[in-house]
Formats: sequence, structure tokens, C-alpha cells
Amino acid sequence: MSSGIPSVELRNVSKSFGELLAVDELDLDLASGEFFTLLGPSGCGKTTTLRMIAGFEQPSEGEILIEGTDVAGLPPHKRPTNTVFQSYALFPHLSVEDNVAFGLKRKRVPKEEIRKRVAAELERVGLAAEARRRPAQLSGGMQQRVALARALVNLPKVLLLDEPLGALDLKLRKGLQVELKRIQREVGITFVYVTHDQEEALTMSDRIAVMNGGRVEQVAGPEEVYERPATTFVAGFIGVSNLMPAAVTGTGEVRLDQGPVLTATTDGLSPGARCHAVVRPEKLRVDAVGSEARANGLPQVGGVVESSVYLGTATQLVVDLGEAVRMTVLVPNSSEAERRELPGAGVRVTLSWEPEHMHVVRESPGAEPTPDNEAERGEQHARAST
Ligand code: ATP
Repeated sequence: MSSGIPSVELRNVSKSFGELLAVDELDLDLASGEFFTLLGPSGCGKTTTLRMIAGFEQPSEGEILIEGTDVAGLPPHKRPTNTVFQSYALFPHLSVEDNVAFGLKRKRVPKEEIRKRVAAELERVGLAAEARRRPAQLSGGMQQRVALARALVNLPKVLLLDEPLGALDLKLRKGLQVELKRIQREVGITFVYVTHDQEEALTMSDRIAVMNGGRVEQVAGPEEVYERPATTFVAGFIGVSNLMPAAVTGTGEVRLDQGPVLTATTDGLSPGARCHAVVRPEKLRVDAVGSEARANGLPQVGGVVESSVYLGTATQLVVDLGEAVRMTVLVPNSSEAERRELPGAGVRVTLSWEPEHMHVVRESPGAEPTPDNEAERGEQHARAST
């Protein structure tokens, strides 16, 4: 990443469709060569943001600069960007190499240069042997690689990718995630990537903007958004929503509604403010009440195991703390004997954690994740873990 002018800059950008405010005062700076992801649930405004950078939509308010130049009014083909869509949008009657060469031919690039550049891109995406085939003779994953080569061959300054792996099955998607990241490092251009899949975002991105209701709730690296989410929405959207309601009782101190008063970082929150304490599922320890194993001296709360599900690499327990607060615990299945000792449904347990693994988040200004998308994420997690 260079430290010069931002590759893409959004200044106070809003977009309305009639009464609907799809994007609300976005301010973003993307560094050159950065893999930047717009992540959020369906309808949060990520595609609209991407389409404004591409020039398919114009902002209602604000400015977009690419490499320091205001691109207002410039049509997509005059911008130093290329877009890769979920639907590969290949020409079915053209061979793979002619699909990739299409843009360069239109720009009247000399024939020999086209041949070299197309061959190099097909090599990069692993399709050199398929150059003469038609799109219909390729798998979905291969077709998406052709679409990628077709975009990269134009040497864009910024590549825009709108859920490019969305139509592929999970295994293929995981393989292509790694490959896309490799290609991005190799070509060194800025990628702006749209997805609703948190795992995909965490795997590939240098930074992630988590969007909700047209607004960005946090921009940070994968580890930061996962370990230190800024809001309840981010905590719930990235990973499992493990939130314990609490109130700030003083500087650096919170009282969980479930009982204990704990020290915590409460930056930006005044005494009396409502907040939530997050502890990620893999950071929780679970012990049956009365069992010999005790988590002495650690912060802890009591609850009852509601369910225990075997997920292959881990066992997932859901513990009911009362008053509709549920915490998910992930215990790695590293030892068969330990797994058999885990408390089952109906058992009273203590949940404990190291103090540094609890993080206080403020209430989200936007909507909470819906039970539906939480359920969907649970399924994604289960699929990913088995
Ligand atoms: P998805 O993943 O479902 O595409 P998204 O986060 O990309 O979701 P957008 O496609 O940006 O969301 O849409 C944001 C909001 O703007 C939605 O409520 C959508 O219905 C609305 N919207 C998008 N494009 C248009 C349009 N051309 N006309 C009217 N409303 C639109």
C-alpha cells in the first residue's frame, strides 16, 4: 500500500431512490493496492456504493474521487475501474481468449500486444489450457476466472467486485477466495469487494467497512472488527451475536444485567449508559455447576445449557442466561474424552472468560441483525465448521 493520495475517496456521499435513502453520508478513504470490502446484510447499500464508484449510478450528494480526480459525470468506460459481477456476463459465442481480448480490441490495442496480454492474464487465472473453449463448456468457477481475466487485462486502477463468488458452491468459493487474494497481491491494484458473507470478508480483506441501513458502522481490519466490534450490530453481524446487556457504572467499570460488576474499557460511554459486553464463543469456558473444574477468579455468569450440537471441528453449546440472553460457546473437539464430559442440555453451568476477552460495545444506531439473518449465519458457521 502506498502512503500517497487515496485510490478511492468518498466524501459525504449519499444516494436516494425517490423516498428511499439507500446510502447515507459515506466517508471512506481507500489506499492504493488495498483489498477493501463492503460487508453488510441485503439492502444495506453496498451494491449502490459500488455502482456509484463504477459510474453506473450518480450520487445524490457528495463527491467521489479516484486517484485524486473527481469522477462526477464520467461514464463507467471513462473511469479507471472495471467491474466483475456475480453473473459472469461473458459473450457466449466468443471463445475464452476472445472474451478476454474484447475490451482491448475495442480500444484498438495492437494485435501482438493483445495476444501477449490475454495469454498472460489467462495464465494468471489458471486458464491457459482453456483459451479456445466457449464459456458454456466451462464450470461456474472457470467462467468467473474468465470474467476476472477480462477485467484485469484492461489494467484498471481499481477493480470492483460485486459478490463475484455468490453463485458458486461453498468449496469452490473457498478455493477462489484464496486465489483472488493471491491475484490481488500479485497485480497490486485496489480491490473493492462487495459481500454479505462475513467469513469471506474476514478471509480476504485488508480492511472491512461494515454497513447497516446505508451507513458505515465500523471500518477496520478483520481482526479488529471481530475482536473489537464498535457496535452491537457489528458484533452480531461478524460472528455469532454473543451480547450480554450491561450498564456503565463508572469509568472503566460495567455491571452486567446478569450480575457481576467488571472492569472494562468504556471509552466514549458515560456512567449510566446502556451497553453490551461481547465475548466471542471460542473465548468462553463452560463448567457444570458442582463439577470439580473451577474457573477461579475469572469473570463469570451462570446459565442453563439449552442445546449442544456437534459441528465436526467443535461442539457448539447455547447457554441461556435468563431474560432472553443466550450465549454461544464453541469448544474445539480436540479430545474425544473431554467432548464426552461436556454438559448437555438442561445442565446448570458457569460461563467464564479471561478479562481481556470481554469487550464493551455501544448500542448500534441502526437496526439489529434480524433473527433470520442470525439463523442464516449460524448455518453458515455450521457448514464452515464441519
Ligand atoms: P443486496 O446484497 O441485496 O444487493 P445491497 O446491500 O447491495 O443488498 P443495494 O442493492 O445497494 O443493497 O440496495 C440498497 C437499497 O436501495 C435497497 O433498499 C434497494 O431496494 C434500493 N435500491 C437499489 N437500487 C435501486 C434502484 N435502482 N431503484 C430503487 N431502489 C433501489
